[in-house]
Amino acid sequence: MSGAAAGRETAFDPEKSAGDLAEGVAIGYRDGHVLTDRPILAGATGVVWSLSVMASLPAASTHFDVPTAVRPYTLNRVYSGTILGVHLLALLAFVPQFFSWIGFWAMVVGIHVFGQGITIGYHRLLTHRSFKTLPWVEHCFAILGICCLEDSPARWVAVHRIHHVHSDEQTDPHSPLVTFLWSHFGWLMVNNREAQSLNAIATYSKDLLRDPFYMRIEKRPWILMWIGLAQIPVFFLAGAAIGWIGWGREAALPLGLSLVVWGVYVRIVAVWHITWSVNSLSHMFGYQNYETGEASRNNWFVALLTVGEGWHNNHHEDPSSASVQHRWWEIDISYYEIRLLEALGLAWDVVTPRHVRRREAAAKSA
Ligand SMILES: [Zn+2]
Ligand SMILES: [Zn+2]
Repeated sequence: MSGAAAGRETAFDPEKSAGDLAEGVAIGYRDGHVLTDRPILAGATGVVWSLSVMASLPAASTHFDVPTAVRPYTLNRVYSGTILGVHLLALLAFVPQFFSWIGFWAMVVGIHVFGQGITIGYHRLLTHRSFKTLPWVEHCFAILGICCLEDSPARWVAVHRIHHVHSDEQTDPHSPLVTFLWSHFGWLMVNNREAQSLNAIATYSKDLLRDPFYMRIEKRPWILMWIGLAQIPVFFLAGAAIGWIGWGREAALPLGLSLVVWGVYVRIVAVWHITWSVNSLSHMFGYQNYETGEASRNNWFVALLTVGEGWHNNHHEDPSSASVQHRWWEIDISYYEIRLLEALGLAWDVVTPRHVRRREAAAKSA
């Protein structure tokens, strides 16, 4: 861990990674970068990905073993049980009786709305503090993130900050330099005695735990389960109401069930794989704008799925920025949404990319 300075209050400094807010835990801040200007057309990403999945090939010529903190392997029962269980439930989507276009569109819209609980909430706001907002807005994003069943905000943030500090080193909790499948979800199947320890959470998510909202969740983790389960009756009742009002009483039950299968189970599985693709594909395939010293890549396919997060090499270069759009074609919808929040008065101190900050600073001093 670099730059640890326990017990120190750190003022917000957009020139530093927001990890500094967690008591000096520097999160991947690197300077003196070189804009390599050698974008590789990532058109073959899908094919290579499929081959890699089938063969579980090592991610690159550089290869290392899983983090030492996961050996000897012990099954993470909560994660593996949840992942297996929800994948099985999502298979109900193949039963024609559960299909409806309303359910399908609930899934599509839900991937974006709940997915932003991870992208804007867990990642850009809580992990990197790339903008400020009102407590209730932050907590709403956190609850949307919890609905994606990607663990508590403090635990997610701790693991992601460790990823930035130790990117593509053996201590990285989910580097594809082990294997593609390890980085995609294998690392979630087993316990990591360091990254998931109370000590890691206390160190890397110290700033979050000062907020009683997040501390309460850590002390009573069953809250996560109840929020996760609450989605089922909410979606069922919404579907049943729409069915009853639109097509009569007999349409209530089928549409209610359709919304549960597509709007909850399929949507959760989709958001999982989209999030996991950032850890796997965006550290394997794509081009690099910056020589960041690890394997992060800008991957258009993942950027499309994640409405921005796939420009991951840009993110590793400048983690505190609310935007990962460093070139005009690297569209970052999530950033536009943060700017929309700003326009509505719900976000401020939005951190722009470093090259924009420098240009603005130079214009000011001129
Ligand atoms: Zn990364
Ligand atoms: Zn990050």
